Amino acid sequence: MTRALRRRVELSDSSDWLPAWVDASAAAKTPAPALRAVPAPSPAKPAARRKKAEVFAELTERIKACRACPLGAQRIQAVPGVGSHDAQVLFVGEGPGFDEDHKGEPFIGRSGKLLDKIMESIGLSRATVYIANIVKCHPMTDPSDPEKHGNDRPPSPEEISACRGWLDTQIRTIAPRFIVTLGAVPARVLLGDNTPISKIRGVWREYDPGAGAPKVRLLPTFHPAALLRNPDLKRDVWTDMKNLREELSKP
Ligand code: URA
Repeated sequence: MTRALRRRVELSDSSDWLPAWVDASAAAKTPAPALRAVPAPSPAKPAARRKKAEVFAELTERIKACRACPLGAQRIQAVPGVGSHDAQVLFVGEGPGFDEDHKGEPFIGRSGKLLDKIMESIGLSRATVYIANIVKCHPMTDPSDPEKHGNDRPPSPEEISACRGWLDTQIRTIAPRFIVTLGAVPARVLLGDNTPISKIRGVWREYDPGAGAPKVRLLPTFHPAALLRNPDLKRDVWTDMKNLREELSKP
């Protein structure tokens, strides 16, 4: 590493440094380096990796065929999830929107682009984490027209409970070290806690994925869509990401 680059990375670690996604003016002052990279997940042994790949292949087929709630027949594509089966971090959103329904991949619209930047700023990427949603199909206000924009709604309690098992299987199979919930809905669903997201974000909790699987440490934070609506929330998410990075750097 050149001396200048090393200095920039050291600087980037100071608590007052802000990545460009938090503060646009910081972008002009400091080109945004990825901060100290989080080590890549150590891949599972080949047999375990094959087993995980098989579980995920079957899971994906079953999610695509799922009709446990009406969303299965309304959506264009199911959106099972994306990323590494050996991920140390699992990000959980609410449910697919228009773009995700069309592509079959979570978080690819505007909030997804911001999520990519947020992850990058602590050395994570779509390839090293896993990204999933509470519900795997697009909840629409007008299900007769999946081509209509602005047709999103939050999932209903019935849709959430019909879909819940898929996420728990994903969590048990990946066995991540950390779950980061994005926004109010996944925090409420996984923690069974109706406290407003503004009060619980940034505080580590635990999630029990059931079936005797180990509990997973869970960090609630704001949804990237909330940051697009209210950029002031970016600083809190940056605080949460530094907290996550700190925990990731521990053995
Ligand atoms: N918002 C979510 O919660 N999930 C997505 O996949 C996209 C947007």
